[in-house]
Amino acid sequence: MYQQAIQRYLQKHSYNKIDLKAVLFDMDGVLFNSMPYHAKAWHQVMTDYGFDFSEAEAYLHEGRTGAGTINLVSQRQFGKSVSAEEVEGIYAVKSKIFNSYPEAKAMEGAAEVLAKVKKENLTPMIVTGSGQTSLLSRLEQNFPHTFKKELMVTAFDVKHGKPHPEPYLMALKKGNFQASEAIVVENAPLGVEAAVAAGVFTIAVNTGPLEDHILLDAGADVLFSSMEELAKNWEALYRAFS
Ligand code: CA
Repeated sequence: MYQQAIQRYLQKHSYNKIDLKAVLFDMDGVLFNSMPYHAKAWHQVMTDYGFDFSEAEAYLHEGRTGAGTINLVSQRQFGKSVSAEEVEGIYAVKSKIFNSYPEAKAMEGAAEVLAKVKKENLTPMIVTGSGQTSLLSRLEQNFPHTFKKELMVTAFDVKHGKPHPEPYLMALKKGNFQASEAIVVENAPLGVEAAVAAGVFTIAVNTGPLEDHILLDAGADVLFSSMEELAKNWEALYRAFS
């Protein structure tokens, strides 16, 4: 089953093989179970400002910039964009609501996946649209001695957010890896699109409420229902690469 997915990927990109050296991890919804809080905060602030925006919809836009999401919804509902000041105001309230929630816990199964990645001497990297300054210390607390600052791509490193491929291309550049030397682990359709556009084999983990086909339609090469499932199937997947 994995061999088929790998063959399809290799053919599409005219690569001979995946020479696996690095695993690029998205953060929210992959390593931390933070998406329920983000979705709640988005739903609340958008409703307060008169927009129709469900918690479920937040998962469809995950990875987009705040401005991108707000303007998309405003265009849809009122046929116009929102001023930069208004966007800033809405986003500030969203962040305030989000920060009032408890700190998100590490995703079940994430530590197991990371342990297996390290065991194979693969390089784990972080590729996130998040711009939290405390990000590295939180990673260190939850997953000690796993990630290096110089091998992280955050909101501060890129001009374009996901679904643009820039975050993943930047990660390959920072780590000095070819696209065929890495795989991506993503939970959001826009993140999957970004990884696929960067030419990297993409594993989707469906840790939210979206239907599987949305992640597969975004281009995911393989899909697991959770990080625990990925951990359980890691050896079989890893064997298929080699
Ligand atoms: Ca995510």
